[in-house]
Amino acid sequence: MTVIDPTLWIREFATLIDENVDQLTELDAAIGDADHGGNMRRGTAAAVAALDANPPTSAADALKRTGMALIQTVGGASGPLYGTFFLRCAAVTDAQLDIAGFATAFRAGLEGIVARGKAEPGDKTMYDALAPVADILYESATAGGDLMWALDAAVAAATAGLDATKPMQARKGRASYLGERSVGHADPGAASARLLVLAAQRAAR
Ligand code: ADP
Ligand code: MG
Repeated sequence: MTVIDPTLWIREFATLIDENVDQLTELDAAIGDADHGGNMRRGTAAAVAALDANPPTSAADALKRTGMALIQTVGGASGPLYGTFFLRCAAVTDAQLDIAGFATAFRAGLEGIVARGKAEPGDKTMYDALAPVADILYESATAGGDLMWALDAAVAAATAGLDATKPMQARKGRASYLGERSVGHADPGAASARLLVLAAQRAAR
């Protein structure tokens, strides 16, 4: 049975952030303060270092410590939001991240982001890339689907969600200060959210 190793998920996420750090910063330069790449690199590197220093005792432990590292090291809005995502993932993970476990964790994580940042559909945030993924995972899990197939569909959904943020006018976070001038640029947090999903696909075995 296919499962996602949470430690590998975080490692792949950190690697993808590293590879795309300039692109994330450029997106944030257009509608924010040009720190999203650096914020995410600092946070994911701290999470990897924490897991390296002290091997996790369980999937939930790995997810929880990742969330704590993100909250503790990222000053921007994205740190507490991604941190909450991982803490909520941890809270509902009692065994491994198979299709049912991952769908449950992802949905709980997304609910944590909403609880923290109050994002609604179309606000031009990471939510717009993550929500379609939560739906696809939930549908696949309910239908008894295969995790690999679900992750292929999830990456496609995250990519479509990211693209959909371009014409949106930002209503949350720093980009909302720009009003109409935020239109025409993809949201940086939605771009890092797509990498989070791509990382899960790479970590599935
Ligand atoms: P900051 O905005 O503090 O500089 P970052 O640049 O690291 O922090 O992150 C910006 C991203 O955070 C945005 O592109 C958006 O996706 C996300 N974001 C900001 N506020 C919210 C919110 N209230 N809910 C969900 N996501 C948000
Ligand atoms: Mg920023």
